[in-house]
Amino acid sequence: MPTTEYVFNHSEIDVLLKQPLGATLPVVDRAEGVYIYDTDGRDYLDGSGGAMTVSIGHGVRPVLDAMHDQAERVCFTYRSHFTSAAAESLAATLTELAPAGVSHAFFVNSGSEATELALRTAQQYWRDRGQPGKTHVLGRAISYHGMTMGALSMSGHAARRADYGNLLHTFAVAPPPYPYRFPLSGADAEGHGAMVWDRILREYGADKVAAIIVEPVVGAAGGALTPPVGYLRTLREICDRHDVLLIADEVITGMGRTGKWFACEHDGVSPDMIATGKGMTSGYTPMGAVLFHERIVAAFAATGKTVPFGHTFSANPLSAATCLAVVNYMRDQNVLENVAARGKQLEAGLRRLAQRHSWMADIRGRGLLWGFEFVTDPHSRGLPDAALNANALFTAHCLRAGLIVYTAGIAPLNNATLLAPPLVITEREMDDLLARLEAGMISFASEMG
Ligand code: PLP
Repeated sequence: MPTTEYVFNHSEIDVLLKQPLGATLPVVDRAEGVYIYDTDGRDYLDGSGGAMTVSIGHGVRPVLDAMHDQAERVCFTYRSHFTSAAAESLAATLTELAPAGVSHAFFVNSGSEATELALRTAQQYWRDRGQPGKTHVLGRAISYHGMTMGALSMSGHAARRADYGNLLHTFAVAPPPYPYRFPLSGADAEGHGAMVWDRILREYGADKVAAIIVEPVVGAAGGALTPPVGYLRTLREICDRHDVLLIADEVITGMGRTGKWFACEHDGVSPDMIATGKGMTSGYTPMGAVLFHERIVAAFAATGKTVPFGHTFSANPLSAATCLAVVNYMRDQNVLENVAARGKQLEAGLRRLAQRHSWMADIRGRGLLWGFEFVTDPHSRGLPDAALNANALFTAHCLRAGLIVYTAGIAPLNNATLLAPPLVITEREMDDLLARLEAGMISFASEMG
């Protein structure tokens, strides 16, 4: 019998399973590749890589061996006392893979810590340059950058902000890249929809703004809201014009998820900071990082100041060795090529399903990060009754069909599903994913009536 009741912050579960709060989750037994097995012997295809995290699949032998070797050598030393060969090679590897000019890495333990560090660095950057008024970090209305207070302050996520009142900063936000429901018009729509930032900075006052933070593809909050290529390039130009730093939150999109090592590369853009996490270790151990452009590093070097930031487990050798092994595995296996091929297969499969199932609309995404939303009718784009929590209900039906999907889209829309299977998924496994997705859709549709 499970002893852990998953009640914290997962009220969707009781709604969707129509059980009282305290409904138990399946108990995981083991996992291999893209499949997870519970203690009752059921198998699940990990269609969302957990929370868009599992990049190379479960149980990969070279990674387990690297973890074992590192664990035998040394698991932990404190970052102020020692560095390690693993952490140094990892920093060199990540900055080599990152867009041009990105030269340094600082390791943390989660995506929230990464975006929090980016926020603090941006504020201090301007303080050290004699502009202490530039403290605000602007984000978008549908976005998620993490749970810590600074990260949440930058997030356009009403439900997760709701309980914190004036404890959070209320930085300005821009419209999400979401033409299906929030089309832009006039000058705002220019530059692939990024010119809206120009107006916002002029109206808000760039003298108050330290940085803009964006997810290249909006993940959990939006269900793969994907601006066209060109959006980030325009945004980079606007940031430069207004003397504002650009932070790319690549916690989901980084490390190959969209078909490039970092999603900014689709636009040929080098942000001032890149926050990454999740897929970098494929979930084998926790780790995150901020990657810094050399112009940020040079500015700190010029003043001799540092950002007073760090965590006990930052750059711990075990996570560093794990991440290095994951990246090496991705390179050896040409995973980015697989993302391109399987991404096309997933997109085509989703579009086929949408023709057969009128609940599915606005198929969107890039690489192996895809989403869609639920409509009562594709022509009117009507939203299902919010009380039905269509996306959470669909997740439950998929679970019964043996497929893990991610419930995305924030209140009051509550309307999207995210798919982000391991980047190593094969053609046959993708067919299996699509078949399970359709089975989930058929039983969802019969419950919706
Ligand atoms: N940034 C983005 C884009 C995310 O999706 C998340 C988590 O979902 C975070 C930051 C926070 O990462 P973590 O949950 O590892 O703290």
